[in-house]
Amino acid sequence: MARPDLYKTLGVDKKASAEEIKKAHRKLVRQYHPDRNPGDAAAEAKFKEVQAAYDVLGDPEKRKQYDRGGLFGGGPGGGPGGFGGTGGFDAGSFSDIFSNIFGGGGQGGTAGPRGRGPQAPRPERGRDLEASVSITFDQANEGAQIPLQVPTSQTCGTCRGQGAKPGTSPSICPRCQGRGIEAQGQGLFSISQPCRRCEGSGTIIEQPCPTCGGSGETRTVKKYRVNIPAGVHDGSRVRLAGKGEPGRHGGPPGDLYVVTRVEESPIFRRKGANLEVEVPLTIPEAIRGAEVEVPTLKGRKTLRVPAGTKHGTVQRLRGEGPPKLGGSGSGAQRGDIHYRFVIDVPDTLTEEQSEAVAKLQSVMNGDPRARLFGTAPGGSTTA
Ligand code: ZN
Ligand code: ZN
Repeated sequence: MARPDLYKTLGVDKKASAEEIKKAHRKLVRQYHPDRNPGDAAAEAKFKEVQAAYDVLGDPEKRKQYDRGGLFGGGPGGGPGGFGGTGGFDAGSFSDIFSNIFGGGGQGGTAGPRGRGPQAPRPERGRDLEASVSITFDQANEGAQIPLQVPTSQTCGTCRGQGAKPGTSPSICPRCQGRGIEAQGQGLFSISQPCRRCEGSGTIIEQPCPTCGGSGETRTVKKYRVNIPAGVHDGSRVRLAGKGEPGRHGGPPGDLYVVTRVEESPIFRRKGANLEVEVPLTIPEAIRGAEVEVPTLKGRKTLRVPAGTKHGTVQRLRGEGPPKLGGSGSGAQRGDIHYRFVIDVPDTLTEEQSEAVAKLQSVMNGDPRARLFGTAPGGSTTA
């Protein structure tokens, strides 16, 4: 590959002053910047060429070397290296530049923010935020509007996020010429790393904004009224799109996730999409059956307990449970309520009750544990 004419790339004369080269470079960067030419591969290639050319001609030392015929193997002993190649560079520094720009250096690539010019850093999406709200059991089932305060950052109004004092603007970093990277070491084994002066941004702020101190962001507390949908449970995450931290360099904002903390109900226990309630029965109710009133989310209902109901038996009322998340309106699907009957055994008895129980015991003869031993009721324990 022939030695590239870097002056031609920048459109300047070989005798151009450093100032003229700088000006030409800026103009071309504006013209071919990938942010201005999205998806235009030709513009992107041109942009890289311009940056590479400026890396040499913008540096008096490298320019001298280039003028002498160095850097591109044009001089004696030079091999057939060329753009992006591996050999033939006499000073090594140029291969650093190209490995950076063409992605060979591990840092560059075409889309990374480091390989681009300083005028328009890559847009970054804002961070997501998370906040939690405490709601009652009823609010979780009915839905609620909950006030919420979220500490976040916002784009600084004084400098519009630029970080520079109004009336000034960030300037191109002189250490890296706006590329955001610098090479350490020599030749093929050099390592690219973010520029230490500008921390990889490619620009420096000489006069920081007095409001934000140069960060471009200020802290604030945003107040919302969050619509908590009916049917959330403890630990549900409600997403508020776009209410996270603001994006940088024109990127979209992040999202706000509101985690619901639901107070426990003394009556209802959540079991997946359903609720469970323990319903005590007296011993006679369990034996003889009964009609009992049970609580629902809206009031109460009557359940028919059949005679001979065992401890732990469950009856369910379909569709009386909490609304299922994602449903809408009054026709939303709802879970069930499971009523679990438990035999209520009194701790103490009146004399009258004691007598009644004694009478019951005398007539409820037979051994319910006989089957544990594999024998018929009333039989002996020998098999
Ligand atoms: Zn500011
Ligand atoms: Zn820099």
